[in-house]
Amino acid sequence: MDSNEITGRIKQLKAEKNAIILAHYYTRPEVQDVADYLGDSLGLSRVAGETDARVIVFCGVHFMAETASIISPDKKVLIPAWNAGCSLAASITGEDVERWRAENPGGLVVCYVNATAEVKAHADYCCTSANAVKVVNSLPPGRKTLFVPDKNLGAYINKLTGRAMELWHGDCCVHERIPASLLLQKLEEFPDAEALIHPESNGSHDDRVLAHPRAFISSTAGMIARAGSSPAGQFLVATELETIHELKKKNPGKEFIPVHPTTRCGQMKKITLERVLAALEEEQYEVKVPDDLREKAWIPIRRMLEIK
Ligand code: SF4
Repeated sequence: MDSNEITGRIKQLKAEKNAIILAHYYTRPEVQDVADYLGDSLGLSRVAGETDARVIVFCGVHFMAETASIISPDKKVLIPAWNAGCSLAASITGEDVERWRAENPGGLVVCYVNATAEVKAHADYCCTSANAVKVVNSLPPGRKTLFVPDKNLGAYINKLTGRAMELWHGDCCVHERIPASLLLQKLEEFPDAEALIHPESNGSHDDRVLAHPRAFISSTAGMIARAGSSPAGQFLVATELETIHELKKKNPGKEFIPVHPTTRCGQMKKITLERVLAALEEEQYEVKVPDDLREKAWIPIRRMLEIK
C-alpha cells in the first residue's frame, strides 16, 4: 500500500470504529497530517478528556497515552508503537520519589507531566511547561518543594518564581543538546531572528538567555502561537525538529531555522503511518492504567487543573 492508500484506510477505520487520532507535534509529518488533533501533551490531554470517541489512537510516547487513560478511563487508548518511551520519564521511579521525600520531611513534590503514572501517583501536584510557573507560585513560599523529573524546566521555574525548589536530575535527551552557548551563538549569527525556546532546553535558564530581547521561552503550543503573532519573519527553533512542520504550515511566509541539527526524538519517530493503521486494524497496543494507580495519579493532576 502506498501512503495515500494507507491514509484512506485509516480514515475509513476511524469512522467505522468511532476512533480519533491524537498526535504530538514531535511525530513524523505524515502522522501529524492524518491526526484529528495535533498538540503538545497538555493540549492532547484536554482533547482526550473531552472526546466522545470510543477509541483514542495516541500518537506519542507511553507516558502521554497513560495520561489520556487517567483522564479518560472509559475510552480505549491505543499507542501505535508499544515501545515508544522517554528518557525523561525513565529517569525516576515512584520509589525514588518516596526516598527523596523521606530525606526531605514535609516537602511538597511537584511533578512535570512528562512522567509515568506511577511517579505522578507519588506527587502532590502536577504541572505542564505551560502552567508550571502558575502551579509553583500557588504553593506556600516557605515550604520545601521537590521538583521531578526535569532539571532544566525546574531551574527555569526557579528563575521565574524566585523559588529554590530542589531539582531531580532527569532531562530530555533531545532538549539537553541545546546549551546557552549555542542559543547565544545562533542569536548573534541571525540578528533579525527571534528564538523560540522550549524550557526543557539546557540553556533555557541561563541568565543571558533569559535577559535576551529576542529569546521567547515557552511550551510548544506557546511557540506556535508566538510565531503567528510576532512581527519577526525569521525564527530559530530550539526544540524537537518536527515542530517546524506545523510552524511552516501555519506561517507559510516565515522562515524557521533549527538551532541544533539533530534535535529529533527517536521515540516519537517509532510512530509510523503503517503502525497507526495497524493500531486501528488490530486495536493494539492498549494502554490502560489500573484503577488503584489511576485514582492516586489523578489527585495531583486534579489539583493542577483546579489552580486558576
Ligand atoms: S522529546 Fe524528550 S521529553 Fe519528549 S518524548 Fe522525546 S525524550 Fe521524552
